[in-house]
Amino acid sequence: MSHPVSPSTQQTPTPDLEALSTAAHISSADRLRIGGFTRLTTIDYPGELAAVVFCQGCAWRCRYCHNTDLLDARAPGLIHWTDIRRFLEQRIGLLDGVVFSGGEPTAQSALGAAMQETRALGFKVGLHTGGAYPDRLRDLLPLIDWVGLDIKALPHDYPAITGVANSGQRAWESLDLLLTARVPMEVRTTLMPNWTPEQIAELAHAIADAGVTQYCIQGCDTDRALDETLQGSLVGMDERIGLIDKNRFANFAIRGD
Ligand code: SF4
Repeated sequence: MSHPVSPSTQQTPTPDLEALSTAAHISSADRLRIGGFTRLTTIDYPGELAAVVFCQGCAWRCRYCHNTDLLDARAPGLIHWTDIRRFLEQRIGLLDGVVFSGGEPTAQSALGAAMQETRALGFKVGLHTGGAYPDRLRDLLPLIDWVGLDIKALPHDYPAITGVANSGQRAWESLDLLLTARVPMEVRTTLMPNWTPEQIAELAHAIADAGVTQYCIQGCDTDRALDETLQGSLVGMDERIGLIDKNRFANFAIRGD
């Protein structure tokens, strides 16, 4: 959400450069459109006590998405960054980090400024992303301490999930970037209900081949899915992931069923 310039700023005839750059910086973070906020979580940033900022907007339409309220990029934010910054100022020493989630947080150019302010307050910065904007992610790398990256499928299978051409190439480019930069990361895959054990293992092993060590398989919550026709799998999780060589990963986790 953008905010009007405050009357006091408008009336300043010749602000000095430092004040101007500070004002621009704050204004940029304040443009972050935020659709939700969690004050404390122990599960969204491994090993850290964190708050979660849910950024508004995503260009993809994954069939299993259950954050449908966050998808519309034109929707105004519900929470102002200034309120979150004020909250964080009161949590210094009590929280370890802040996770920027979504939606797709990297869709917004104001994300970097919000991350900078978060770091300046002494918090670690986590990011949940589908990797839709590798160029922007590259610029953000110095500001990020940990990433939860969705790798939804092999590149050619992405459009059947996201509805967007070349989305797979973008996500795998983001994976490559993060691996090359050695950013601590967990890669997650939500299982499409119609995938076979062979498909699932092929994807997992491709992710291991890329160099991923922390991998999580997530069940698909069809009850909350964007695509109401999506049906749950008739096969249990154990059988579906039975062909994955879990030893290929230092940490292999399962969430949901
Ligand atoms: S990338 Fe994430 S937020 Fe965007 S549609 Fe897919 S699941 Fe939903």
